[in-house]
Amino acid sequence: MNAPEAAAWLARSRATVAATRLAPEAQTRGRVERVADGIAHISGLPDIRLGELLHFDGGASGYVLTLEPDEIAAVLLDNSITIAAGSHVRGSGEVARVPVGPGLLGRIVDPLGRPLDGTEPVVAEAILPAERPAPPIIARDLVSEPVATGILVVDTLLTIGRGQRELIIGDRATGKTSIAVDAIVAQKDTDIVCVYVAVGQRASAVERVIQAVRQHGAAERCVFVVTSAAAAPGLQWLAPFAGFTIAEYFRDRGQHALIVIDDMSKHAATHRELALLTRQPPGREAFPGDIFFVHARLLERAAKLSAEHGGGSLTALPIAETDAGNLSAYIPTNLISITDGQIVLDARLFAANQRPAVNVGLSVSRVGGKAQRPALREVAGRIRLDYAQFVELEMFSRFGAITDARVKAQITRGERIRALLAQPRFTNLRLSDQVALLAALTDGVLDTLPASAIATLRARLPAHLDAQEFAAVAALEKSGVLDPALRARLVAATRALAATLVPPP
Ligand code: ATP
Ligand code: MG
Repeated sequence: MNAPEAAAWLARSRATVAATRLAPEAQTRGRVERVADGIAHISGLPDIRLGELLHFDGGASGYVLTLEPDEIAAVLLDNSITIAAGSHVRGSGEVARVPVGPGLLGRIVDPLGRPLDGTEPVVAEAILPAERPAPPIIARDLVSEPVATGILVVDTLLTIGRGQRELIIGDRATGKTSIAVDAIVAQKDTDIVCVYVAVGQRASAVERVIQAVRQHGAAERCVFVVTSAAAAPGLQWLAPFAGFTIAEYFRDRGQHALIVIDDMSKHAATHRELALLTRQPPGREAFPGDIFFVHARLLERAAKLSAEHGGGSLTALPIAETDAGNLSAYIPTNLISITDGQIVLDARLFAANQRPAVNVGLSVSRVGGKAQRPALREVAGRIRLDYAQFVELEMFSRFGAITDARVKAQITRGERIRALLAQPRFTNLRLSDQVALLAALTDGVLDTLPASAIATLRARLPAHLDAQEFAAVAALEKSGVLDPALRARLVAATRALAATLVPPP
């Protein structure tokens, strides 16, 4: 072999050696150094990536939360007692994924898609990452169609559009979950599928939600993604993201979905817990600085897609809890600025038996107005103003007798609006019921009724309208547009029913 031949041979050999992956089946195995509070500190996985799913010996899994020069911290997805210092772990080269598809409808699953309602595995169409990018602006369309909730105060004053994000916020036990459940129940006969995500809720509360949907709504068109307060923090953290991935499946196929996250405050607390355990610097209220980004990138995934992208929509109803009505705390302000409006529930109204306890003055829906059906917009126009004026007048009227006839009339009308907006759970009103009630209110039909009779009127009206004005109801539900003749017929029918409820003098 001469010198050039030897050089060529050497170069070839080097190339062969470089191209050969030595023992490709060998994987780097890490070692658990410490494990506590749902976090494992691991050494010996130099090539691991942030967010990568890890498999521990013994079957438990987790994902990478922080990378340090000589150690990584991983969040466990199982409350596993099989993991201890010295356990082995390997990377999967994957992020956490969740099964999606119509097979999930009617099922109760955890954020990794493992069934919680029996042993039958879920039938998945695909298995997608829990963290996915939100649709770009260019793929979106204007929010133009409503999500009817059947709750009068929401549909008339705070219309929620398909693709909108509307925050439901209030103190403990003020009916936050109830509003979301009513919205889910109202989708019984619509084309919207629902995903309910429970994060850190008591098992009994989740059970009540599922029972309510089974009893009153269409549970076979709902997916329940459940992590209880006792679940591993990593699993709780993942739940909203997994819920969005499950809902996006429908959005991306041109269908419509509604997702409820109950609740974001618990999710934020979990995020804080994980951050503090991995020694990330605490910021305001001890939350890490990235909590805004976490919630923003989550809720950004709610969208109305343009026709070229199938025209599907995903509407989000995140729920948040306040302390003593403090809307300016860190998490509430974050969420208010991320969402397109908020339904504020007031503990004082709730205590005064005004339920749903919606504080009309503080609540707003920033994009839904354009999505409201024309018929409803026509009759709901003045309600908000009339009601706001009444609330102020009522305050003054406490100090002395009102003598002015005009003010008296305003107060009478305000009291009727208040009675009308109070509504028991599971009494969803159709568009035509809502239009008939509000048109009758505007025409003064309700002014002679005592508040208790208004509740009876509202309860009996749907059946009465079906019996008396079936054609008018059908026409209105279909077109969503009100003409004077239709309006007159609805008001007349409501007036006739009201006449039977006036107490004898
Ligand atoms: P938590 O903070 O515990 O999650 P929450 O704010 O989600 O509570 P809910 O559990 O929805 O509140 O409701 C609290 C109670 O109020 C329940 O017992 C529920 O039945 C009642 N409630 C809610 N809405 C209404 C309503 N419109 N009419 C009558 N009762 C209602
Ligand atoms: Mg609740």
